[in-house]
Amino acid sequence: MPFDYTSHFSGAVDSVRGEGRYRVFQDIRRVKGEFPKAVWYKDDYSEKEIIVWCSNDYLGMGQNDCVVEAVKSAVDAAGTGSGGTRNIAGTTHYHVQLEKELADLHSKDRALVFTSGYVANEATLGVMSKILPGLIIFSDEMNHASMISGIQRARCEKHIFKHNDLADLEAKLKAAPADRPKLIAFESVYSMDADIAPIKEICDLADKYNALTYIDEVHAVGMYGERGGGVCEARDLMDRIDIIQGTLAKAFGMIGGYIAANETIVDAVRSMASGFIFTTSIPPSTAAGALRSVKILKISPEMRDQHQERANALKARFRADGFPFIDGDTHIVPLMVGDPVKCKAISDRLIEEFGIYVQPINFPTVPRGTERLRFTPSPFHTDAMMDQLMGALHRVWDEMDLKREKVA
Ligand SMILES: *Cc1c(COP(=O)(O)O)cnc(C)c1O
Repeated sequence: MPFDYTSHFSGAVDSVRGEGRYRVFQDIRRVKGEFPKAVWYKDDYSEKEIIVWCSNDYLGMGQNDCVVEAVKSAVDAAGTGSGGTRNIAGTTHYHVQLEKELADLHSKDRALVFTSGYVANEATLGVMSKILPGLIIFSDEMNHASMISGIQRARCEKHIFKHNDLADLEAKLKAAPADRPKLIAFESVYSMDADIAPIKEICDLADKYNALTYIDEVHAVGMYGERGGGVCEARDLMDRIDIIQGTLAKAFGMIGGYIAANETIVDAVRSMASGFIFTTSIPPSTAAGALRSVKILKISPEMRDQHQERANALKARFRADGFPFIDGDTHIVPLMVGDPVKCKAISDRLIEEFGIYVQPINFPTVPRGTERLRFTPSPFHTDAMMDQLMGALHRVWDEMDLKREKVA
């Protein structure tokens, strides 16, 4: 019998489907100027206007007039693609300006732009053991898949510490040989649990055990800190972190990722990291749009305030009506369902019946049994939209026989 390739591919999908977590991508078209509205293409014959409640374009910068204009004028001035890797004709003036701006945002010597935040994590963490022989990496158990992938690529000794657990981290640091190089990899805002790491205390441990610190601020850049430099800026800790990693794709509304660090670290990563070296650089227009977006958000603290206010408004409604959400003191509002089939069914009902789009978040993005709907209210989600959402949620929650807490 020849090997049956097809049955293996379809079998892989069957097991996902059997658990009720088969992924369906909703086909939507965002409508510039009407954020967070979009058109949903249900099938080839029907379209429906929807409100998007789960976008990571947290501040609507992907439709900001000035950002769009910056992209357009760069396309007119420089064309579409960059035409090369960074080393071979792909370092345009737009890339250089963007990296200067990002370095300044994080008060670091230099920044380095990658094709995505995923690649920034994978490439940077992946090359660390080459630069630091004998390296031991200490990684938070809830770290993003891109960090895990980078750490696996590094093929060095690693220890996974319990989420945000300083005692566990310290025990693991203490147990490691004092003379080995160490790196602690963690995030600031954890996007699925909506909580924030004890950054200062982790930095204190790093000092005590002479470890480097690597923080993923993907869900914080643009949104926290006086100029949008992230939670480390807000807590005045940027100088205590060795490598700050961020994305241009979420609050900045474009695509691409980066690290910011001192001159020597950036120079080494630039020279050694495969995922930086052997790929075409982002289009000049993307760099131009990101540059404009970073500059705008630097001077827009009121957007950050509105963003937090909207998140708090949604949480207040969930709380008042007894919906089980995680209150993590961030802009992300996860509503817990705890069942992959119901989670998907709620999402389907919300979009079909009410034009409300919130994607179900199932395993492996979150642990089994903690399936959730992850709401990301933006400054453009109005009170009226929240009223409509709450009405719809009550209906669907009852249909699914899910519980709400009695609120006095
Ligand atoms: C989205 C995400 C990334 C990847 O960033 P992209 O720019 O989308 O590739 C990295 N880390 C975390 C925590 C993320 O949520």
